[in-house]
Amino acid sequence: MAKDSHLLSPVDGKLKLDKIDPAETHGLSEAGAKATLAKDVERLSELHDLLYANRQRALLIVLQGMDSAGKDGTIRHVMQGLSPQGTVVSPFKQPTAEELSHDFLWRVHQRVPAKGGIGIFNRSHYEDVLVVRVHHLISDKVAKERLRAIRHFERELDESGVIVRKFFLHLSRQEQARRFEERRQDRRKNWKMSAADFKEAELWDQYQQAYEQAIEATSTAECPWYVVPSDHRWYRNLAVAKVLVHTLQELEMDWPKPPKDALAAD
Ligand code: AMP
Ligand code: MG
Repeated sequence: MAKDSHLLSPVDGKLKLDKIDPAETHGLSEAGAKATLAKDVERLSELHDLLYANRQRALLIVLQGMDSAGKDGTIRHVMQGLSPQGTVVSPFKQPTAEELSHDFLWRVHQRVPAKGGIGIFNRSHYEDVLVVRVHHLISDKVAKERLRAIRHFERELDESGVIVRKFFLHLSRQEQARRFEERRQDRRKNWKMSAADFKEAELWDQYQQAYEQAIEATSTAECPWYVVPSDHRWYRNLAVAKVLVHTLQELEMDWPKPPKDALAAD
């Protein structure tokens, strides 16, 4: 098997989520994946150091998925090697009154990482074409306009040096039900649950459809979406790590030259 033959491909064109198996592992085993992930995490940390030293580009990682798909877990496991200096995690919750009084990208733009940094969005501007759409709080026309605004916004980010990579953590309904039950039973996890989570779960098909449309409309060569099979946490972590390592490696970064006088002997 070629080294990275299981690297995910970006979404290109039509997306049918029910044709992608959330339990896919591409023939990898959990035991093998652990060691590979550890190496990838280490590599990611080195690449982050290079990104930070060069201060030419930034990386924005967008994580979306249904409740319990593993957004928090991905951040914990894949990003654990990143230096806290230069890494900012931004969770996006229900907008505040102030946020709602602005355009929907306002709160998001402020959280975009500066050059040299890595920004991780735990949910994102995509909520504004997902949850609000499923609940019919915006019309199809407004959803279309927002999708166009997102494409332009991300394109502008790309042109100003921000690399945008977006991940949909693709979970099966059965696995979500299992995780909800697990959460309910676990004191360390049940604080995460709310009655609303069960309500949202009932809207599963509507969410899948909203995701398909949003991803199709906004997966571009510059700012691609990846659908990450996420029923197996270890596979999800590995798949995300691989894409990130690949993305930063492609920049072929080198250490910046020291200032002229820095190496002069005294
Ligand atoms: P959690 O990520 O589990 O802490 O939940 C955050 C909640 O905030 C989710 O139910 C999201 O759907 C909701 N949320 C995030 N952004 C928006 C938004 N722009 N409009 C409405 N709800 C949102
Ligand atoms: Mg939640």
